[in-house]
Amino acid sequence: MTNINQLTKALFASQIQDWPLAHTNFEGLKTVRTKSFSFGDYEVRVQFNPARMVSSGAKVDAKSIAERPCFLCKVNRPAEQAAVDFGDYEILVNPFPIFPEHFTIPRKEHVPQQIKPFFGDMLELSRAMDDYLVFYNGPKCGASAPDHIHFQAGTKNFLPLVNDYHRLKNTHTDLLVTTEQSQLFQMKNYGRTVYVIESGNQAAAIDAFEKLYRFFELEESTEPMLNIVCTFENGQWNVFVLPRKAFRPWQYTAESEKQLLVSPATVEMCGVFITPIEEHFNRITKNDIESIFEQVSY
Ligand SMILES: [Zn+2]
Repeated sequence: MTNINQLTKALFASQIQDWPLAHTNFEGLKTVRTKSFSFGDYEVRVQFNPARMVSSGAKVDAKSIAERPCFLCKVNRPAEQAAVDFGDYEILVNPFPIFPEHFTIPRKEHVPQQIKPFFGDMLELSRAMDDYLVFYNGPKCGASAPDHIHFQAGTKNFLPLVNDYHRLKNTHTDLLVTTEQSQLFQMKNYGRTVYVIESGNQAAAIDAFEKLYRFFELEESTEPMLNIVCTFENGQWNVFVLPRKAFRPWQYTAESEKQLLVSPATVEMCGVFITPIEEHFNRITKNDIESIFEQVSY
């Protein structure tokens, strides 16, 4: 079987060498300013990342999306952008990175961002790319291409949530459901709502996910707002599901000195706030982070 981890690493190495935009932005990432706030048992980091204006400032209303060429369709991609083939998907280097290694993984066909029919693909992807974590932004809570189904992948130890879960599992989780082949946990005292499915069986993981999905489904045929992260370790998936109740907080559109351009998606919900504006990076406080979690987490 082809080793997708190795092919992905080789793709990354060649793209940051040969593609000037990727080279510049991944180099730039090495010196970005970060700061971190302690919440007792866990931390939330803030990253000042000017290259992310393209995403944090993105217009994702239906009209704006319909009027721009889809940057995930092969025909519209930059000539320098190469790919690793993964069945119905292609693994691409994300030229506007947050993670030290950051990938975008669009499906080959242009169909809307939605998780239910493709959750099994996410599991397969995270098993094949088990040196990385794989994540999903719902079409109304962070995806900058809500019209084209895609996942992202990044450096595995980068998101605090994944490490926090292992470290705090004994004290900060409730076991909600146990079946023969899966367990569902909920994190507690964590500032935001997080469910975790643990399973070594693909069908059982899908079943557990679909039950959770239905629980948050407010009306039929409308996807509940979800951010999802998945890792595969020791023969087992850990699927982190972060339900949302709002996309952007009031601070996003506030007047000058109250404004914080933070557009919460999976990365923010997992403990890394990105802001592309230096003054906002300097100004953001622990209270702002609590306030933003409170507004956008279910
Ligand atoms: Zn497309």
